[in-house]
Amino acid sequence: MTAMTRFSDWFWLKSVDPALANAQYGEVQGQIPLLYALLSVNAVAVAYTHHGAAPAWMTVWVPAALVAISTVRLFTWTRRSERSVAGAEAIRLLRRTILLGSFIALAYISWSLKLGQYGNEHQQTHVAIFIAITVIGCIFCLMHLPQAALAITAIVTLPYLGYYVSSGDAVYNAIGFNILLVTLVMIRVLLNSFGGFNKLIRSQAETERLNGEITKLAHTDMLTDLPNRRLFFSEADSRVERCRKAGQELALGVIDLDRFKAANDTFGHLLGDQLLEAVGGRLREVFKCRGLVARLGGDEFAFVVEGDTARSMDLAGQACQALSEPFPLGDLTVSIGASCGIATTADIPGGSRALYDGADYALYKAKSERRGFVTLYSPEHERRIRSDRDVEAALLAADLNAEMAVHFQPIACVADGRIMAFEALARWDSPRLGRVPPDTFIPLAERAGIIHRLTLALLAKALACMENFPAGAKLSFNLSAHDLTCHETVVSIMALVRRSGIEPSRLIMELTETAVIRDFDTADASIRLLRSLGLQIALDDFGTGQSSLSYLHRLPIDKVKIDRSFVAGSREAAGRELLSAVVAFCKSMRMRCIAEGVDDASQLAFLRSIGCDAFQGHLLAEPMPIDEVVTWRRRRELGATEPSAR
Ligand code: C2E
Ligand code: CA
Ligand code: CA
Repeated sequence: MTAMTRFSDWFWLKSVDPALANAQYGEVQGQIPLLYALLSVNAVAVAYTHHGAAPAWMTVWVPAALVAISTVRLFTWTRRSERSVAGAEAIRLLRRTILLGSFIALAYISWSLKLGQYGNEHQQTHVAIFIAITVIGCIFCLMHLPQAALAITAIVTLPYLGYYVSSGDAVYNAIGFNILLVTLVMIRVLLNSFGGFNKLIRSQAETERLNGEITKLAHTDMLTDLPNRRLFFSEADSRVERCRKAGQELALGVIDLDRFKAANDTFGHLLGDQLLEAVGGRLREVFKCRGLVARLGGDEFAFVVEGDTARSMDLAGQACQALSEPFPLGDLTVSIGASCGIATTADIPGGSRALYDGADYALYKAKSERRGFVTLYSPEHERRIRSDRDVEAALLAADLNAEMAVHFQPIACVADGRIMAFEALARWDSPRLGRVPPDTFIPLAERAGIIHRLTLALLAKALACMENFPAGAKLSFNLSAHDLTCHETVVSIMALVRRSGIEPSRLIMELTETAVIRDFDTADASIRLLRSLGLQIALDDFGTGQSSLSYLHRLPIDKVKIDRSFVAGSREAAGRELLSAVVAFCKSMRMRCIAEGVDDASQLAFLRSIGCDAFQGHLLAEPMPIDEVVTWRRRRELGATEPSAR
């Protein structure tokens, strides 16, 4: 590129940076009106001093026309300053300024030089000063548009110099030379200062770009490129406010991945990251143009959708569905799933935090009862979860040894009523909450991560009570699913049993299918470990899960406890058939079966008729503390058959 083309590109703003053009425009906008005002006043002054010395058209009409044009331009620029222009429009207007400025300069210089031919020396000197001062004023006012300043200087200074140098007058020659020198210096200064201005604008643009990037970083989740928690809540808040004002409904949903932790632990964090990235991609697809979706952290995502509940539920359903499809990641295909809780402005007053809390309650409900689905918030969830949280807090603060107790419920032989074992059942008397049922606190202890400690405390208490058991009676102890899938707990249980000095064959560990479903291999290994010590294993609540039969085949189980719903159902013919089929099945598998929840004599008679081995229930005795077990036994030995009072 030659210097000439570079200059012409620069002059005609061909390669100008839009940010620079905007800044140039912004600066000249304020200065050009001043320039026109200066021109007009100076022109009127020159016309005035020449009035009478030059023809009227030169001192009245031409300056009047020039002042009129300048005034129009002055107002045009003043009006422009009220609206902002940018980019191509700014470049277009700057180019027009260069052109128009050149024409107006041409008109002024032609008029001035013509006028300089009239009048006495004073008057002619005034013209020379008018031109010189005006051109310096122009250079100043056009500091930020050097192209126009250069054009005008060239248009004015060259004829001016030609005119005065050719006059042959030494004083005029000197003035011309002075003016040329001053103009050159001014142009140099102008170009320097414009260079500085250009740099400043560029560094401002760079700073703005960096600021933009920093803001984006502060608001974006790096892994999924979705908005992060901070942006989500600030954006959700403004949407909630807007919808409430417009009387529209809005829903906020929280999505939590199911089985993500397992996938992360099994396949490693790198794959976990890829999985989260893919999840982000699918969610972005579902909510594209329909709502805002963000990653709040970990495997938790959230969204905001405007519109009625049906629409939000539908979108949330689509999200859960999309996340339940397998994820192909390299050589692997990983299946997870997602549960979602939703809260809407129709149900919850307040901002995004309140909606989030509501959605979180609904999510908790979804996770515990409807995994993989969407649950809509209801005040009932909140009440339950609040009370769960109270219980959890009390449990975490509890002195397990002092507040927990073990009650015992006897298990007897169906055929002859002989006591075969006692099931240990946990009881918690919280000083703050009173008696809390195990159905409530066991799952909470699992969630709070203290179940292992609780299990060991309960087992120690139960083992200590065994000295009051009838000779040969066994202890049937409930293990949580979490205990069975934790190697350390299993080892601690074995150590506790060994230390107690109790014959391991007197212990039966009850476990539910949940443990096996959670992690079959670990549960299987734990069961084998416990059996290797001589303990027996019973499958509890048999028949309430979905895959009991397959587990019975695959696991080394000694006994099956038939859930009390089967026994309760035996009042009807169909129920009786089912119960006898279950008992027959256990027998065919060569496993002893124990019927739970036997609370009347006819049920016991039926169990006897179908050959069930053992039973447990209120008919025999309710769970009782160990000292009552002793009196209960004594009464029973004395021939009293009615169930214990407790
Ligand atoms: P589960 O293992 O099925 O225990 C039997 C439950 O049925 C006990 O309730 C018992 O009181 C009740 N029951 C006994 N006979 C009858 C009857 O004739 N009719 C009726 N309707 N119910 C009867 P409980 O003591 O409230 O325990 C509830 C559940 O809490 C237990 O169910 C067990 O899953 C869990 N649990 C209790 N103690 C422990 C423990 O020490 N560790 C663990 N991990 N879980 C425990
Ligand atoms: Ca049990
Ligand atoms: Ca049971």
